[in-house]
Amino acid sequence: MKLDLLAIAAHPDDVELTCGGTLLKMANKGYRTGILDLTAGEMGTRGTPETRAKEAALAAKILKASWRGNLGIPDSDVQPSRPNKMRLAQMIRDLCPHTVIIPYWDARHPDHYHASTLCYEACFLAGLKQLPLTGEPHRPFKILYATSFEGMPPTFIVDITREYAQRRKAILAYGSQFRPAKSERKQRVFLAIDELDHRMDLLARHHGQLINVKYGEPFLQKEPMAVDDVVALAVRSI
Ligand SMILES: [Zn+2]
Repeated sequence: MKLDLLAIAAHPDDVELTCGGTLLKMANKGYRTGILDLTAGEMGTRGTPETRAKEAALAAKILKASWRGNLGIPDSDVQPSRPNKMRLAQMIRDLCPHTVIIPYWDARHPDHYHASTLCYEACFLAGLKQLPLTGEPHRPFKILYATSFEGMPPTFIVDITREYAQRRKAILAYGSQFRPAKSERKQRVFLAIDELDHRMDLLARHHGQLINVKYGEPFLQKEPMAVDDVVALAVRSI
């Protein structure tokens, strides 16, 4: 399997919420895309790992991902430990992604910031010849950080206006997370699906507005972007 683009995140639905539109847009361009969830999300308040796995498969189909897998790290215990790094490095060798999207390194949820370190270090290890891994050494060419929830200025924003409706469908595929059981409805302990929908809409609109389109998804990269033609640059300044 050789992927053009692989998005890795801690929990099933993280990828849909942070870069689902971009994944779909790249699949529509003909790229082979994949999603790797580090955990099965078993600490989620609602739904079982089995239902989440089914929902994740459906969401991947909606986003036209060529591949989706799960590393099986315990939810709430994502750590950049040696065994986790080795397993992820093996996966990166097997999938050979050219570009990876990983979580931003600063976050509220420990799984998210640990996932960021784990992903970066596994990408590095995957390129070391002497490690006891199978397959050819491979390091992704490009590492992008998904910054949707973090609120810092992104390096660039992808216009996902055309993909937004499908991305929304993929997010709503996680029905067990967001649709409360009858017994829960009175208690109002759930993140209501309407509220989630509203928040996702606001966030994507906010990022879209920054580049003068309706909906956008933000990314950060550590290295500067190379520009060849400064006259053709997009997004009006004044
Ligand atoms: Zn998460």
